[in-house]
Amino acid sequence: MNNRFRNIMKLPGKLLRYEWLSVHNYPVLLPFYHVVSDEPLPHVLNYPYRNVRQFMEELDFLLKHYRPIGMEELLTQTHERSRVFHLSFDDGLRQCATVIAPILLRKGIPATFFVNPGFADNKALFHRYKASLIISRLKEGKQGETWLRERGFSFGKLLQLPIREAETADRLADELGISWDHFLKETQPYMTLDQIRELEGRGFSIGGHSWDHPEFASLDFEEQYRQVSASMDWIGSHLHQKHRVFAFPYTDDGVSARLLKQLADDNLCDHTFGTAGLKYDSMPRHLQRFPAETSEALPVSLKMEMFYSQLRGYLGRQTVKHP
Ligand SMILES: [Zn+2]
Repeated sequence: MNNRFRNIMKLPGKLLRYEWLSVHNYPVLLPFYHVVSDEPLPHVLNYPYRNVRQFMEELDFLLKHYRPIGMEELLTQTHERSRVFHLSFDDGLRQCATVIAPILLRKGIPATFFVNPGFADNKALFHRYKASLIISRLKEGKQGETWLRERGFSFGKLLQLPIREAETADRLADELGISWDHFLKETQPYMTLDQIRELEGRGFSIGGHSWDHPEFASLDFEEQYRQVSASMDWIGSHLHQKHRVFAFPYTDDGVSARLLKQLADDNLCDHTFGTAGLKYDSMPRHLQRFPAETSEALPVSLKMEMFYSQLRGYLGRQTVKHP
């Protein structure tokens, strides 16, 4: 089912009352974000992140209707019919430590941060953040889009840049005089290991999110396995996490049952996470999260997702299956 059709199917949920939708049964609510910032982030054009006020409003909505739980409770208890949520944050951006964690601590909300060791300590920049940075620079001038089109790209296409074409971003940056090293040093877009350790010390959970955020569906089995094991080994050697958890970058769409089973059998991960929304999963140790950073505020996008979940339920399609 394509995205556009899916979004149309969700629309009626916008008009329905939350109270009406919430009487039904749903999978455990696992909303995830990446970053919260009052400043524009030129390297993040890939999703509509929240400012502090919007984020706090969304948290207040969640706290009004659900009880926040930590990873321990999520993984060790059943949550059928219980109104709970577990929050998580992907990509290990600096604002996780400087903006998000202080808010969560004040509100008493536990959370998990899924990090890419390849980027921690600002060693390198995710290829899609590189693409965003290039586009932000081009948007400063009038001829930016034309300049890019002459090189075979639109803004939209560049934002979807796959990792195997990451060199394209490097080449465009060279032409524009953008230095990744300079940006990493000046902006410090990612958390340092010390900041990640501090989050752990404050009681937050830390999980793996692959080494350097590749599109999993384009990798062969061995490389997929290596991406998971390298990030989990890094966490194992630098942190003291009770649960070994991993969230697939972008999506778990196309991630095979064989890989999920192998990761569990080899004790690489206790639990893994996808991003398919409010859905059950056919694999016992794999859970689906709900992307909170959409064009709608969470109270609205959640109603749309709940409506869609009910609809899928009627059609017997509420459970994600893996090839
Ligand atoms: Zn990510």
